[in-house]
Amino acid sequence: MNIKPAVVSAIGLFQKGREELQRRHQEKAKKTQGNLRGGNSGCMVGDTVIGKCHRVSLARLEGIDQPVDAKSQDIFDAGYLNEEVWKRNLEVAWDGPIKYEEQTPGKWSVTSGSGKETLVTFSPDTELGRWEDGGNPANGMEFVPEVGLEYKIIVSDSQGLQKFYKPRPNTDNLCQTGHYSMKKGIPYILVYAYHSMASIPGMAWWWSRKKFNIPEDVKKLNPFKVEFKIGWENGSLYFLTGKGERVDTLITAEGIEEYYTLVADMKEQKALYTRFKSKEYDLSDAPFDHCNYCPFESACDETEDYQVWLDKIQLIVENSKR
Ligand code: SF4
Repeated sequence: MNIKPAVVSAIGLFQKGREELQRRHQEKAKKTQGNLRGGNSGCMVGDTVIGKCHRVSLARLEGIDQPVDAKSQDIFDAGYLNEEVWKRNLEVAWDGPIKYEEQTPGKWSVTSGSGKETLVTFSPDTELGRWEDGGNPANGMEFVPEVGLEYKIIVSDSQGLQKFYKPRPNTDNLCQTGHYSMKKGIPYILVYAYHSMASIPGMAWWWSRKKFNIPEDVKKLNPFKVEFKIGWENGSLYFLTGKGERVDTLITAEGIEEYYTLVADMKEQKALYTRFKSKEYDLSDAPFDHCNYCPFESACDETEDYQVWLDKIQLIVENSKR
């Protein structure tokens, strides 16, 4: 028997598909340009911004997305795979209807200084629900959401160690999930999943062992999931850890609305609000400075002028495509 190897390349096809999907995604994004987005959620705590950097949200509002390289795209793909796995399992486990992303849209608006309204749009990952009055959708019954889910994947081993041994949600994820919960008026669960099996020898492991108090006989980190259940009390967000312990935060419904109003005001007044400070949901210092990992860092280092900043970040995005 003779069989010649395939002429077509699997990776070549993958790349072609990815480029087309990116093009379609950009086309779709144009339709919501000028809207503030749920994926870029933050919160004002006094004068301090926590969550997603307000300047990054402003860039998006101005139609400038942070550059996405092939590595980041692979990570996004891993996120989609994670969502598919959740979907498969939930459809067997939940005894009511389930809605996903495109079927769960939400919107509200902020009013900036001049009285101009800017729309905030969002699409949570999943909502588990019931048909109105226990009825049948064929009879025109409405979907009533009961619980929302927001999934995140853990892509680095150091994040994996932190989430496993010292479970703490990321502040931007907490603002985003809290935002959806408060606007939908239902509880939400933020779930992290780690899909690797890391064996980390040497100094990094020694350092992590010390930091997270990992027993000597543990030699590797296995795949795991961790969830944080979000609740609200008098307009303040708290969450329950996987062990059911309650943790109060400084995130408030009012602060989330103020964050979006701030971003809309920045655009309207053509003024950059002070740089992002990298603080956690309790205003403690974040484990790292987000600015050090931000593609717009050089623009923020060089200018505080609104238009010059916009031109610089536009250039950064264009150069990243070359
Ligand atoms: S460098 Fe810092 S302040 Fe500037 S856009 Fe990035 S995260 Fe925000």
